[in-house]
Amino acid sequence: MEIIVQKFGGTSVATPEVRELVVKKIQAACENGFSPVVVVSAMGRKGECYATDTFIELARTAYKNIANRELDQILYCGEMISAVIMTGTLQAAGFDAVMLTGGQAGIITDNNFNNARILKVDPTRLLNLLKMGKVPVVCGFQGVSSDDEFTTLGRGGSDTTAAALGAALNAEMIEIYTDVDGIMTADPRIVTNAKILDCISYGEVCQLAHQGAKVIHPRAVEIAMQKNIPLLVKSTFSNAPGTLITNITQEDTEETGVNDRIATGVTFINNIAQIKISLHDLTNNTASFNIFKTMSDNGISIDLINVNPGQIMFTITEDLAEKATIKLQELGCDVQTTLGCAKVSVVGGGINGVPGVMANFVEALALNHIPILQTVDSHTSISVLIEKSFLQSAVTALHEKFNLSC
Ligand code: ASP
Ligand code: MG
Repeated sequence: MEIIVQKFGGTSVATPEVRELVVKKIQAACENGFSPVVVVSAMGRKGECYATDTFIELARTAYKNIANRELDQILYCGEMISAVIMTGTLQAAGFDAVMLTGGQAGIITDNNFNNARILKVDPTRLLNLLKMGKVPVVCGFQGVSSDDEFTTLGRGGSDTTAAALGAALNAEMIEIYTDVDGIMTADPRIVTNAKILDCISYGEVCQLAHQGAKVIHPRAVEIAMQKNIPLLVKSTFSNAPGTLITNITQEDTEETGVNDRIATGVTFINNIAQIKISLHDLTNNTASFNIFKTMSDNGISIDLINVNPGQIMFTITEDLAEKATIKLQELGCDVQTTLGCAKVSVVGGGINGVPGVMANFVEALALNHIPILQTVDSHTSISVLIEKSFLQSAVTALHEKFNLSC
């Protein structure tokens, strides 16, 4: 039995017309000899009646700080409604479809409500259903803890469900259906000539996602990567081939001639604050520890971390800037907070070891008179912090400089 997991996002299950397109994708998988396991997200986007955001807003009308446990119970409803409707649609089309919650599909999580981690997947029930020729339709984004608590996997977590089921079932492929034709070199609302990538490595797509691209949940990629199961991101609304995510390496692409690109995409995270702390006493080794410990104790996640003699810099999301500044001042720090920043990153598995990537990066920004406030790099990315008013011109200039539109 060759299993395929087909995950359909919120816009792919939002209306009766679109759900008929979903039926066609499932039908095609069956015709190609696969046994499909369907995973669905809640129906529609923010503002629509059965979307996840609607349930969050509804719960918060009762109490703004409603407990995460209770929030998870209402969040469960979104995927339940969607899975029931999609199962009914499949039954009407002649499929022997069966709706399952995340727990019924064998997804066991920890007890971290709103952001639970999958501890294990027991695929027995799914395998039995598949053997009987049934099409399981599983609620994405949910699981159950070992003490029978209903949990959700964090926003965008239906991708994680699909990957976890794909891994547990040893699927041939995990298809992620969405409303765009694949993963793009940049956000097309910013860069008009951004293009769809045919293929991308697990590592690159994780970097793109962590650096702000809203392509696929990075956790899903990490899970698929562990079992080396290909992920295909494609549109429900077209027959475009989509973007294949696999373990292609730079060497592979050089050998096959498929691709020798240095950069794969340009991405950004907006609304960031930069924190700069001057350290006057260079002999005081505990000062930097106290600074990072204070952030940690207050649940503030930090990024773009630079520790130099005399100065510590890092970034945080803008909404936490006031709290962080106050806590650091209470610690006696000489702190300077700059609001209104954005982090722009060039991601590419081919960056490592190639001379001149940073020179090109800096040249593109210099020609557009964009000051760099801070930089950080990894072997597959280079990021800069800039003033957010320069965001559009920086992303466009870098996309151009790294030949991503051809
Ligand atoms: N419905 C959930 C969310 O909006 C999970 C998902 O769509 O992947 O975050
Ligand atoms: Mg999603």
